[in-house]
Amino acid sequence: MFQGLSEKLQETFKRLKGKGRLKEADVNEAMREVRVALLEADVNFKVVKDFVAKVKERSIGQEVLESLSPAQFVIKIVHEEMIELMGGATGKILIAPKPPTVILLIGLQGAGKTTHAAKLANMLKKQGKHPLLVACDIYRPAAIKQLQVLGDQLEVPVFSMGQDAPVDIARASIKHANSNGQDVVIIDTAGRLHINEELMSELRDIKASVKPHEILLVVDAMTGQDAVNVAESFHKDLGLDGVILTKLDGDTRGGAALSIKAVTGCTIKFAGTGEKMDALEPFHPDRMASRILG
Ligand code: GDP
Repeated sequence: MFQGLSEKLQETFKRLKGKGRLKEADVNEAMREVRVALLEADVNFKVVKDFVAKVKERSIGQEVLESLSPAQFVIKIVHEEMIELMGGATGKILIAPKPPTVILLIGLQGAGKTTHAAKLANMLKKQGKHPLLVACDIYRPAAIKQLQVLGDQLEVPVFSMGQDAPVDIARASIKHANSNGQDVVIIDTAGRLHINEELMSELRDIKASVKPHEILLVVDAMTGQDAVNVAESFHKDLGLDGVILTKLDGDTRGGAALSIKAVTGCTIKFAGTGEKMDALEPFHPDRMASRILG
C-alpha cells in the first residue's frame, strides 16, 4: 500500500539529507516535490495545499534551519503533520451503557460492508461480546447468504427476514437481540452503485427507527477521491461516527486515507486489510504515517 507515495517521499528526503545545512530554497524545493507526490497519490488538492503550507511554515524557521540535522527536523515535521491530517482515531466501538449497542454499517455496493460486518462481529466476539449480525441488504439475495455463511463460520447468529422492508428487519432485530441476550447488533445494509435518494431515505428510516450508537461508513480505499466524496455525502446526510477504510492490502495510493479526515471531519476508525475475518485493524494515524514515510 502507498508504495508510489512512499518511494517518492523517501527520495525527496534522501536528497534533503544529502545537503547538510539547509537553505530556505532547499525546503521550498523539497516541498514542491512533496506536493507533487501527494497529488499523484490522489490526495485532495486543498488538503495538499494546506499540508504543504503548514510544513513549510514550520520548517523555514531558524530553529530548523540552524539545527544540527535540519533535514531530519523537516522529516519529523512532515511526520507530525501527517498524523495530524489523519488524527483523532480511536479504533474502538463505543459500547452503549444499556445493551444492545447498535452498529449500522452503510456504504456503496462492493465497498466491503458484508465482509466488515462479519469482521466486526468476530472482533467483538473475541472481546467477550455476544454480537448479532442483521441482514438488511435485501436487494442482493447473495448478500443474505454471504452473511449467513460468514456468521456460521464465526459461530455468530444472523438475523434475517428475507426480502422484508429493511426498516422492519432492523427494528425486529433489536427486539430479537433483547430477548436472546445479544449485546451488540451489527446491521448490514444494502448499498447501491451510486448514492441516490432512495438509498439515503432507506438509511434515514433505519437510523430513526433503531437509533444506532455507531453509524460506520464502509469505503473502499482503492477508489481514492471518490471515497472521500462518498464519505462527505453520507456524513452530511446521516452524520457518521466513523469510517472503515477497506482494501488497504491492495495497491492503493493513499488519497483516501490522507484526505477523509481533513475533508469530512470524520475519523477513520478501522482499516480492512484483506478478505479473511481477522484482517481488521484499528486505524492508527501514527503507524500509517510511519508506513508512508518509511
Ligand atoms: P458489500 O457489497 O459492501 O457488502 O461488499 P462485500 O463485503 O461483499 O465485499 C466486496 C468484495 O470485496 C468481496 O469480494 C470481499 O471479499 C472484498 N473485500 C472486502 N473487504 C476487503 C479488504 O479489506 N481487502 C480485500 N482485499 N478485499 C476485501
